Amino acid sequence: MRRTLSRSAALQARAEKYLPGGVDSPVRAFRAVGGNPPFAIRGEGAFLWDADGNRYLDYFGSWGPMILGHAFPPVVEAIRAAAANSTSFGASTPAEADLAELVTLAFPSIEKLRFVNSGTEAAMSAIRLARAYTGRKYIVKFEGCYHGHADGLLVKAGSGVATFGLPGSAGVPEEVAHFTLALPFNDVQAVEMALEAHRDEIACILVEPVVGNMGCVLPAEGYLEALRRLTQQEGVLLIFDEVMTGFRLAFGGAQEVYGVRPDLTVLGKILGGGLPCAAFGGRKEIMDLLAPLGPVYQAGTLSGNPLAMAAGLATLTHLRTHRDSIYPQLERLAAAVVDGVTAEAASAGIHLTANRAGSMFTWFFTGEPVKDFASASTSNTSTFARFHRAMLENGIWLPPSQFEAAFLSAAHTMADVDATISAAREAFRA
Ligand SMILES: *Cc1c(COP(=O)(O)O)cnc(C)c1O
Repeated sequence: MRRTLSRSAALQARAEKYLPGGVDSPVRAFRAVGGNPPFAIRGEGAFLWDADGNRYLDYFGSWGPMILGHAFPPVVEAIRAAAANSTSFGASTPAEADLAELVTLAFPSIEKLRFVNSGTEAAMSAIRLARAYTGRKYIVKFEGCYHGHADGLLVKAGSGVATFGLPGSAGVPEEVAHFTLALPFNDVQAVEMALEAHRDEIACILVEPVVGNMGCVLPAEGYLEALRRLTQQEGVLLIFDEVMTGFRLAFGGAQEVYGVRPDLTVLGKILGGGLPCAAFGGRKEIMDLLAPLGPVYQAGTLSGNPLAMAAGLATLTHLRTHRDSIYPQLERLAAAVVDGVTAEAASAGIHLTANRAGSMFTWFFTGEPVKDFASASTSNTSTFARFHRAMLENGIWLPPSQFEAAFLSAAHTMADVDATISAAREAFRA
C-alpha cells in the first residue's frame, strides 16, 4: 500500500509562501532525507496521523518531550483545567514553585532554578550567569553538541547545523564566536590543554552529558568524572545541558545515571510536557546572582506560563510516581528495537553502528564506532536518507536526519517494536 502525501504536499507548498522553507525549525523541512514532510494533524500515544490520514509510529516524540506519548490524558486534562483560569497572567502562580520543587527532587544538584520558554534561552542564560559568577569570558563546548541557537553557541553545533553541513551560522560576529572554544567530545586531553592555554579565562564547560545532537553519543568511561575534576581544579563551572537527557535517561537525568554533579543544569523538552518550557538551575549561591536578587539580568513575559507549568507538573508527577516501571520498560523496549534493527542490518550486509542510552538512540550508517563528531561524520547520509524514506513509507517516522537521536515513549509496545523491526527488514532488503 503506497502512502499518498498529496494533502501534505499542498500544505507544504502553501506554507512555503509565508514561512522560509515552509517551516519554523529547519530540520522539519526534510531536506536531509528528501521527499515531502508529512503535516501532522493528530497524535495519540505512540502514533501520529498526517493530513492525508496516514498513520505513523512516532520515533521522534516532538524531538524529545513526548515521553508519555501524545495526548496523554492527565496532561491534556491539566492543560484544559489551567486554560479555563486564563492562559497567562504575567504574575506569579503557585504552580511555578510546585514544578520547581519537583525538579529539585529529581536533580539534587539544583537548589534553585528559573523557568524560561526554550532550551535556547535556558542555555544562553546559564552562560551569562557562569560568566558573571566567575568574572571570565571564554566558554568551552564540544563539537557536535547543540545548546540552542544563541550566537555564541552556534560554533560546531551539531544537530540542524550538522544536517545542513554548515560550519556554524552566518550572522554570528567573529568577535562573539571568538570566546567559544569548541573541542572534540570524549577527549580529556583536549580539555586539559584548553584549560592550560586559557588559565583563569574560562567561565564554564557546557556539555550534553549524553549527546543527542550529533546523533546519540555516550560519554566514554570516566569522561564526565574527568570534566568534573578538571573544572573544580580550575574554578570553572560545569554545566550539564540536560534539555534532552533530563527526565529521559532516568527521572534525575544523566547526572543520576553517571553520578556526576554539575554546578548548573539546563532543562527543557520533557520538563514542559510538550508546551514551551525550559529552565536553568543549580547551586543557590550562583542562582542568587539573578535579578531581582543580583546583577545578572534575565526575564520573560511568558516565563513560567500556567499552561506549561500544568503540563510539566502532570508529566513529572506521572513519571515520578511510575518511575520504577516506566524507565525499566523504556530500557527494555528500546534495547529490543535497537538490537532487532541492528541485527537486520547485519544480516543484510549493511554497516550500522547503534548507540543507545536508555530510550534515546541512533542508528549510524557506518562501520566505525561513533564516539565524537568526527566518527559520526563517517556515516553514509544517503543510505540513511533511503532508510528514512523506506521506513516512513512503512509507517515508521524516524527523526529526519542522521545526526539526531530517536526516542521511544512509554506508550510504545512490544508489538510496535516488532512492527519496526519488520519494516527495517524490508527497508534493508529493498
Ligand atoms: C533541544 C535542545 C536544546 C534547545 O532547546 P529549544 O527548546 O529547541 O531551544 C538545547 N540543548 C539540547 C541538548 C537540546 O537537545
